[in-house]
Amino acid sequence: MTMISKVRILCPHCEELIEQEILVPDPNFMAEKMKDSAAEFDDEIQCEHCDNEINIWGSNSYYELYLASEDVSEEDFYYSQPEYDFGEYETDETIEESGIQGVLSERGIKSLYHFTKIENLEAISKQGIIPRAQLKEGDYEYTDINRSDGFLDANCISISFPQYRMFFIKRIKNPLQNWVVFEISPELLSACEAAFFERNAASRIVQSEVIENRKTATAFENMFSNIDNLPKREESKIPDCYPTDPQAEVLVFDKVDKSFIVAAHFPSEDVADHYAHSLNGIPAKVTPELFENRMDHDLL
Ligand SMILES: [Zn+2]
Repeated sequence: MTMISKVRILCPHCEELIEQEILVPDPNFMAEKMKDSAAEFDDEIQCEHCDNEINIWGSNSYYELYLASEDVSEEDFYYSQPEYDFGEYETDETIEESGIQGVLSERGIKSLYHFTKIENLEAISKQGIIPRAQLKEGDYEYTDINRSDGFLDANCISISFPQYRMFFIKRIKNPLQNWVVFEISPELLSACEAAFFERNAASRIVQSEVIENRKTATAFENMFSNIDNLPKREESKIPDCYPTDPQAEVLVFDKVDKSFIVAAHFPSEDVADHYAHSLNGIPAKVTPELFENRMDHDLL
């Protein structure tokens, strides 16, 4: 139980408004089909006014959270889509002194990644990676069709390995779609305004105070700390340059200039050959392992 949903229910007993936060389980990220990703659970909510207990049932999948109760009608049952509990970090002065560059060199971070639909290759090869809010309609195919909050003005970048779970989910939703993985120089992180999230932030709503709190070198370094409910780094033996959660991501609030793009990675020679003319000078590489699971997948 690691995500939080805000619930508002009209109590069927005392008719007062119950307002609580409940914990919900992560979707089942091992699932290879959308329908298998739903984590189902039962819970009880105790009315804070009359102590009446209400049984609820829930299901959290790649798509969305669904909650229901036999005791409460659907019209009286409100709930938010779940988010991880992003507490605020105290900044660590030592880390702040050595800054983003310090974390990059301490951890030996050599690459950042961004995946997108292959139809965007040509536009990105010319203009760089542009946050969706700054795009003119029709230029790009959006990767995250569900994004509907303040994140429209950020690009999602992952550290040292593509955000393969999100990638995987998108591929399940649309098996015929081809993708390209852009490799980006870590220098981007010093050059742009970025927020560092130790868990998946982009597909769900995160408050703006939290975004501000995540724009520090301390937040960057915390992507590599052990996280409750995930295997300890000592056990998973992931390299120092991998964030603890493979879903960790950096939101970059500026355009990623073409000069930061190091390479375009393709899953096969066939796909690379087919799109070779669209690269506008960006080196092409065939790297099927970037389209697969991260090395610690079986532990997660
Ligand atoms: Zn009540």
